[in-house]
Amino acid sequence: MDLENLEKVLQAEPKYRLKQANEAVFKNFISDWSEATFFTKELRDKLNKECPLKIEADLLISEKEDSIKAKITLKDGFKIESVLMRHSDGRNTVCVSCQVGCPLGCLFCATGKMGFKRNLTTNEIVEQAIFFNRYLKKIGPSDRSREGLFHGVTNVTFMGMGEPFLNYDNVWGAVKIFNDYKYFNIGVRSISISTAGIIEGIKKLSEGLSREAGSRHAGHVNLAISLHAPNDKLRRELMPIDKKYPLQDVLKAVDEYIKETNRKVMFEYVLIKGVNDSDNNAKELAKIMDRKLYFVNLILYNKTPQTGQAGSFEPSDTKRVQAFRAILEKLKIRYTQRYRFGDDIQAACGQFATSK
Ligand code: SF4
Repeated sequence: MDLENLEKVLQAEPKYRLKQANEAVFKNFISDWSEATFFTKELRDKLNKECPLKIEADLLISEKEDSIKAKITLKDGFKIESVLMRHSDGRNTVCVSCQVGCPLGCLFCATGKMGFKRNLTTNEIVEQAIFFNRYLKKIGPSDRSREGLFHGVTNVTFMGMGEPFLNYDNVWGAVKIFNDYKYFNIGVRSISISTAGIIEGIKKLSEGLSREAGSRHAGHVNLAISLHAPNDKLRRELMPIDKKYPLQDVLKAVDEYIKETNRKVMFEYVLIKGVNDSDNNAKELAKIMDRKLYFVNLILYNKTPQTGQAGSFEPSDTKRVQAFRAILEKLKIRYTQRYRFGDDIQAACGQFATSK
């Protein structure tokens, strides 16, 4: 799919043609311009040639059918992964990628093992949600959709391949399109950005929000921090980026973000057997998380062929997870434990990886 030239191709046409074209792509989810019968045959052919809508993708569907992974091939042959999670309350969340690979090389993450190839453009980020809207339209309303109505994509999380704040402008461009009523009309509170702790990005996000205050995109995009360890020593072993952005500096940036926005911030903590799941780790975590508007999201580690090669990582045992949770509860730390979507199709956290 390539919409870069859409405005240019329609330049000579009356203005309303662009509106019609956008509606056809973003509201009616057409996958070929031949479906846009309100255009002349000549214009449809031209659009098919210069702004093709086809998205090349391989699909994997989980056994419970609540997770669908798309491996999308980009124009230059690189592949990215994104996942649709179908919640029982009718919401449809798409976890999008923002880079091909990732330069941060977190040890437990399959994407990190790929290395970094390139940033995605705004259109390539948006294309992932368009793909799943087409998919949802094709399968029709199901018992997951409240009142049997078509809901399409209702939530977007930037938690796929890549670090969003290393591709800030294109990610923010995509956020605006997701939020815009002319395109996806997804509320900003239903959009989440997760970072490994790029402080400039956290600052920019809160400044960006104030700068755009009053616009529809202002405020309230959810911020999540990939934490995964309660101290610098362990965090550095798991996430090399901690050397550049130590924990206390990241937390300080988060505190400033909260002061600016008064929004809750989620800290993701993947539980890895014998690595970061001890009682002491839980107590240390509780100590740094005991702040206003912080909450922890516990995630069970997902083994992948790529991370498995590292040899040492396993998910924590159920008993250990319970003990870890009990400590957080006793110390009155707000936490949730993420439902495991799609680990059988390697669509869960840290399992995104492709090759060209
Ligand atoms: S966990 Fe996130 S930041 Fe770390 S390597 Fe994976 S994609 Fe990159």
